[in-house]
Amino acid sequence: MRIATIRGRLTLVVPQGAIDVADASAGRFGPDPQSAFDDWDAFRRWADRVDAQAEPYADDELGPPVPAPRQVFAVGLNYVRHAAESGLPLPAEPLVFTKFPSSITGPTGSITLSGDTVDWEVELVVVIGRTARDVDPEEAWSYVAGLTVGQDLSDRSVQNAGSPPQFSLGKSFAGYAPLGPVLVTVDEFDDPGDLRVSTLVDGEVRQDSRTSDLVFDVPQLISRLSRIVTLGPGDLIFTGTPEGVGLGRTPPLYLRAGQELVTEIEGIGRMWHRMEARS
Ligand code: ZN
Repeated sequence: MRIATIRGRLTLVVPQGAIDVADASAGRFGPDPQSAFDDWDAFRRWADRVDAQAEPYADDELGPPVPAPRQVFAVGLNYVRHAAESGLPLPAEPLVFTKFPSSITGPTGSITLSGDTVDWEVELVVVIGRTARDVDPEEAWSYVAGLTVGQDLSDRSVQNAGSPPQFSLGKSFAGYAPLGPVLVTVDEFDDPGDLRVSTLVDGEVRQDSRTSDLVFDVPQLISRLSRIVTLGPGDLIFTGTPEGVGLGRTPPLYLRAGQELVTEIEGIGRMWHRMEARS
């Protein structure tokens, strides 16, 4: 199942187009996208049987599939080869920060650069579907509503300004957490633990890796986070970025106004953004 937000409304995406959930369910679910996650099992049962006319839609009508999560977790240094390019040892526990929800935006459109050291980070984003507390790794996938594509855009100057560095603000400028184009439920993947993830800037490949290189995989992240905090429906986990970030280059290479950023994950889809200068 593929779920999207179209013109701000919870939507099912099917091969023929889009089904507005509030209309098709006579108001039982939607139009608030969060309503699907808050009653996930019932929503799945309803959606599996839905019989409604699909309507065409345009890509630029898509918003973030989770526009207003209560909690957003993000994980640093969580790919083996990215830790190596950063010159840092593999962490013994996940390095967790937040991207504040006001940084979330949709899968297309323009993003205003906060400065001249803004970096790209393609990330698989997990959307939680059930309240999770003290979850065993073996059970963790059953707490996931689905997966979507994210960018953890990062102003490296702000991120590394402090001593010790505090990551969250430098990664939370408006538009620095694009999500989309859709949320795909776990059953749609042959192996949700091994997906190709990539970033292109002006058509040039900057990141091209697989989630099988994760240090802490999705079940480990859910298990370890849920031993400390209660995860709730619609919460997001940005699972970390693979090698190929601009900071890892000599000299570093960052996003410039006018550039086109494409972010893609196998089996989910592709986001497209134009970088704009701050006025
Ligand atoms: Zn990141």
